[in-house]
Amino acid sequence: MPSCRTAWSLSSSLRAPENEALPDIIKGMLSSHEPTTHPFQTDDSRLQPIQEKVLAGTRLDASDALALYRTGDILAVGWMANLVRERMHGDKTYFNVNRHINPTNVCVAACRLCAFGRKKDAPGAYTMALEEAFETAASGYSEAVTEFHIVGGLHPDLPFQYFLDLCSGLKQRFPQVHVKAFTMVEVAYLARRAKLSIRETLAQLKASGVDSLPGGGAEIFADRVRHIICDHKIDGDQWLETAKLAHQLGLKSNATMLYGHVENDEDRVDHLMKLRALQDETGGFQTFIPLAFHPDNTPLQHLPKTTGMLDIKQIAVSRLVLDNFPHIKSYWQMMTAKIAQISLRFGADDMDGTVIEEKIYHDAGATTPQGMRRQELERLIRAAGRVPIERDTLYRQVTRTETSVTVAV
Ligand code: SF4
Repeated sequence: MPSCRTAWSLSSSLRAPENEALPDIIKGMLSSHEPTTHPFQTDDSRLQPIQEKVLAGTRLDASDALALYRTGDILAVGWMANLVRERMHGDKTYFNVNRHINPTNVCVAACRLCAFGRKKDAPGAYTMALEEAFETAASGYSEAVTEFHIVGGLHPDLPFQYFLDLCSGLKQRFPQVHVKAFTMVEVAYLARRAKLSIRETLAQLKASGVDSLPGGGAEIFADRVRHIICDHKIDGDQWLETAKLAHQLGLKSNATMLYGHVENDEDRVDHLMKLRALQDETGGFQTFIPLAFHPDNTPLQHLPKTTGMLDIKQIAVSRLVLDNFPHIKSYWQMMTAKIAQISLRFGADDMDGTVIEEKIYHDAGATTPQGMRRQELERLIRAAGRVPIERDTLYRQVTRTETSVTVAV
């Protein structure tokens, strides 16, 4: 046995740390759940001091994050991420019942990462009339959704009023459904088109019915990478500044990272560190969602797809580094249901949902179904030894009967 291999006493080392090292946002989430797991073992000496920090609840730094990306010992990284996940959530695994609405795929940007956006007169370009969007919201599902997830292209002609009317119209028709709408990139573009400040744009969107923002468009913050994959988008600092303003206005948001293209380990670490720093400041992020790059039908289709090893590791590193993010989501639509299921033992506590009609990743070659039935999602979660919990967008538990949907407050 290698000299660095270490076994830890379960009773003394796996409990939540009793010191004050963890951020406030996380302290309330610590679970009395006592993990039943095997001892920590590794042959990689770089992981020993990291494991000691994780046990003590001490924040990891950039060099720790880099070591986690570079080790081949995925099981040791997973052991640590699972420990943190179980401290925070026990066996609970969240999902929601949502409907995606992509009002237009017309986009002035030409991001090389994208298979969704089209020029206005290109084949396949579409823009929904408002009534069409409302019909889309109402159709195609057999149970009540609790969330509309709305993102689309940067349309050069649609007025800001269209988006305000879209949100207020949805609220009028479906007052009980949470409207999670518009990435920071879309918000910044709408502000430019409407000649408003970002703050005013967000305020008007909120007044029209937007309840929170999704996390898309963050991609990778590093300029070098952005120039290659999404040169026409706002830069990383602008994305972070827009998120900060949203949080200041009381709008929660998520955050994403698109990985598996031309970024390197340092770029990923930089991205995580910037998100963590903003979360320290605002506390407005709910969930971090690593998104595996799908190259099909994009100008980057010569790049290989991500591997299962990278997908799983990305989830685990995110859980360990983003100690102030309540939730880490394994988005089954992008990762496949099987990888997402395994990731529930590697740090993830959320599987997104019974998404209805997802377009963006399917245009980029995702071969997963466009939606998944609740029973199947629950089965996958239970088969991973976890407990499925339906949540709304704000992570309040949803209880359903044949005739009612109740959200715990
Ligand atoms: S990623 Fe978004 S902004 Fe970029 S081209 Fe696609 S739809 Fe447009």
